[in-house]
Parts: sequence; C-alpha cells; structure tokens
Amino acid sequence: MERESLEMDVVFIGAGLANLSGALHLAKLVRERNEATANGNRAGESLGEIEIGVIEKGAAVGAHILSGAVMDPRALAELMPDYMEQGAPIETPVLEDEFRYLTKTRAIKSPITPPPLKNHGYQIVSQNRLTAWLGEKCEEAGVNIFPEFPGAEMLYDREDRVVGVRTGDKGIDREGRRKANFEPGVDLHAKVTVLGEGARGSLTKQLSQRLNLNDGREPQVYSLGVKELWELPDDRFAVGRVTHTLGYPSDTRTYGGGWIYGMPNRVISLGYVTGLDYGDPLLDPHAEFQRFKTHPFIARLLDGGKMIRYGAKTIAAGGFYAMPQLYADGVLLVGDCAGFLNSQRLKGIHTAIKSGMLAAETIFAALVAGDYSAQQLSRYEQLVSGSWITPELRSVRNFHAGFKGGRWLGMANAGLQFLTGGRSWGLFDRATGAPGHVAMKKLSEYGYRGDDTGQRYDGLRFDNKTTFSKVTDVYHAAVKHDEDQPAHLHVLDTNICATRCAEEYGNPCQRFCPAAVYEMLDDAATGKRRLQINFSNCVHCKTCDIMDPYQIINWVPPEGGGGPDYKNM
Ligand code: SF4
Repeated sequence: MERESLEMDVVFIGAGLANLSGALHLAKLVRERNEATANGNRAGESLGEIEIGVIEKGAAVGAHILSGAVMDPRALAELMPDYMEQGAPIETPVLEDEFRYLTKTRAIKSPITPPPLKNHGYQIVSQNRLTAWLGEKCEEAGVNIFPEFPGAEMLYDREDRVVGVRTGDKGIDREGRRKANFEPGVDLHAKVTVLGEGARGSLTKQLSQRLNLNDGREPQVYSLGVKELWELPDDRFAVGRVTHTLGYPSDTRTYGGGWIYGMPNRVISLGYVTGLDYGDPLLDPHAEFQRFKTHPFIARLLDGGKMIRYGAKTIAAGGFYAMPQLYADGVLLVGDCAGFLNSQRLKGIHTAIKSGMLAAETIFAALVAGDYSAQQLSRYEQLVSGSWITPELRSVRNFHAGFKGGRWLGMANAGLQFLTGGRSWGLFDRATGAPGHVAMKKLSEYGYRGDDTGQRYDGLRFDNKTTFSKVTDVYHAAVKHDEDQPAHLHVLDTNICATRCAEEYGNPCQRFCPAAVYEMLDDAATGKRRLQINFSNCVHCKTCDIMDPYQIINWVPPEGGGGPDYKNM
C-alpha cells in the first residue's frame, strides 16, 4: 500500500498534559537558542526550523482526557510562570479539605487530614479544559497538532531503533474492506518519538515488550477511577472543598476510595477508585461506584441533583519501582504511560508536566548534539533522577505495596511511609504486587459456590436518580465510534469465553468493563453462549487489556476521532 511519509524532527504521541508540556517547552528552548544565535549572544549554529508534531486519537485535544483533578501547580508554574495571566482554566483554588472514613451508615470525619491528602495551595481543574488550553498554547508556539490521528504502530529501522510512528488507516469497514472514504495511515518519521499515551498505552505496551523496557522492574499495577459530574440544586457542597473517603463500599481486601470536589456553578466531581489488583472475580468497579453513591452521606448530597457527565479511566499506581526504562534509541516515555503518578497523593498532573519538560530538555540536547541514540537519550533518566520528581516518588515507593495485605495494613504502612520517607524495612520493599490479571482469583478459589455471578451486588438497583446502569452512564460520556469499522477490542481466542472463562471466572469482562462493552449472550442459531463486543460503548479506559485473566484482550486505537467526548471533566 502506498503511504504518505512526513518528515518531522520530533513527534509526540498523545495530546495529554505531559506531551503538550514537552512540545511547548521544546519549542521554547529551540526558539530561545535560535534567537540567541541570531543576535550574536551565543556561539555556535542555530538549530534552524525544528518540526514538532503531536498526534492525538481523539476528535480534539482534550476529548479523551479525564481526571478528578486537584493539581499541584508546581510544574505548571515552572513551564509557564505567568499561567494565570495567560488564562489557564483553573476552576477554583482548594479552600478546605477533609478525609472521611465510611462505615455502612456513617461518614466519620477524621480530626486531621492525612498530610498526603492536604490540598491547600492547590487548584481544582477540569483536566479536559486545561489540556485544550495547553494545546492552544502549543499551536501558538508553532507546534503542529494532528487530532484524529491515532498511533497504530511504531516504526523501527533495521537495528530496532525507533524512527517514528505509523498512524491508523481510516475508512475500513467491519469486515476489514476499504470503504469509499479509505485513507491509509501516514508514516511520520522523526529523530525522536515521545510516547505520552496515558496509562496502559497500546504502543507503549508493544514497545516495552519488544525492547524489554520492563526488565528488572516490578510489574505495573493500575487503578480504575469511575466518575460522574453532578449539578446540585443548591450550594450544599462548597466551591473549593475537597473530600476524600476510604471504606464503604470496598471490602477490606480491596483497594478503593472516593472523592468529591466542589467546582463553580454548583457542580461537583464525584468518583470512586478501585485498585485493579483485586482478588474477587465478581467485583465490578462501576457497581462499587454506584454503591458508594447509596451511602447516606453521599445520597443526601446528591438528593435533588442531576448527573451530567460520566467517565472512567485507569491510572498507573505501581509507583517508583514499576516505572519502565524511560528511553531507548529514538524514543522517550513520559507521563502516566511511564508510571509517573504519585498514587499516595492521587496526583499525576504535576509529575506528568515535569516529565514532559525534562523530555524536552533531553531532546533539545540531542538536537544540538545531532545524536538520538539510547546513550544520548539516557540523559532523560539522569534529569528525572536529579529533579524533584524522584524524591517525591521515592518517598512513597512502597505505598501501594502495603495494600497487598488489605486495608488496615495498607493504612498502617502509608503512615509509616510518611514518617520514614518510604522505608518499610523489607516488609514490602520493591513489591508492587501481582499484576491485576494474576491477582484475580478463580470463583472457587475466592470461595464462591454456585453459578450466580450477580451475588456480590445483590440488592443494588439502578433508580435513574442516584444510581445508573452502565448503558445510561455511557450515554453521558458522549461516546461516538463509527459502527462500520473493525472492533478495536481484539479478543484473540473467543472459544475460551463460554467454556473455560465462564467456569473459572464467570466471564469477568462483563463486570470489570465500566461501559457494558462485553456481553455473554445465548446464540439462537447455535444454541451456545457467545461473546458480543459492543465496541461503540468503549470509553478507552484500558481496564480489559489489564484485567483479562488470560491476557487475550488487546486494546488498539479505533479509527481516529472515535471514543468519548469528555467536556469539562
Ligand atoms: Fe474500558 Fe475495555 Fe471497556 Fe473499553 S472495552 S471501556 S477499554 S474495559
């Protein structure tokens, strides 16, 4: 197939905060160098015009960006000291915060907010709006942004050096045939390619396997945040208030917690995080969130309100020891796809932005040296080690591991971590735990008898006032995919579904997916059960790629522009 090729200097894959910060910072470094050289203030040659591109699978910058976001503004202030004057969309500063432990009926307010959850001085942001704004700043700085261009595969030369990315074909029908609007993907060749795809990036997964970037590291573990925005009837939840909860509805063996952020115009962001290293095969993160809302403390808050948006997203929670090697020949990894999140503080925006900036400084030095080898790009890890990112992540390096022993041990370990700067005297050292698909137990191992896979959520009803089914929620994520395209969820062996998986795990894909993509149906023609994939519901959270117990689900990007359309999320 004839493909168009485009020569760039640097290509960033994914228009998230890490990559946009990297692109913007790089454009600034190049401009400053060229101006200084032209003015005679600097010896040496100008770098000339450096082509910087950012490709994005969503229909617009920010369309796929979702987060319940309290931002530590440290990195944004480094990137752009006058970000407020430049119109950064900050919803509100954090004015008060609280931590509550939820029993089944009570919401016990902690007399002190645990230090990692203190948010004074920080800002509540719509990550979606912040990303769109940063995208505009990039364009003003001359960065080329290509929405609706998903990265389909990395391009390598004969020595396995990364030399760019191939974008996805457009206009293929569900049978794999070309439609009238067929357009082949473009080969974007670059000296350096930067992966900033977010948690469990599909290209990052391929690259890490091919170049063994996870060798010697702990397995990455993830959490899934399921979230709704609500409009409340009055000012019952103050603007700038941040509430975090622990306890109900998660059981003590499962990592989970909730958040409520007060935003302007009586809107709150409400969500629940479930650790994707749970053992119970009947666990359903969306159902956990619905249960969370039935707690009297939350239900009272939502009474008379209206749910206006829905979304779900995974975050990389493994921390310091689970970070992959951050560089290879011609390529760097930034943001959540490299595991930069501080899971104890539930914050990753500041580390994502900073990682993008450090990647930019690395690339700038590589452009000056004309050297894009792994050795030259290894400078990135040195810059990360020398920055404030490393002490921050090191000090919570054993946080997630503590929860392997359940909630109480996890909390005790978190407190200890705070006092000792991350040490745990060999108790949890380096052990992030088993990856999610290994941690999930079979039904019989978990103690279930019988074939009722709904037994964990007996009594949970969707009243369409406070609680909603997955299908209703997905409607509020404004998801759009052209139905006439191949499914972007590749299940490599569907024979397992109705047999081995049904018996061993009760088809957990029906539960861990927060968007009702996977359904086991009776097939009238064959009289057998079969898997139906409602791929057009997919909110791109990647949970199925992480949690499938047989690791036979591969999430790949759908045709460009498809997916959720998060606004103000
Ligand atoms: Fe998430 Fe997979 Fe479901 Fe899509 S199909 S919403 S990626 S779990």
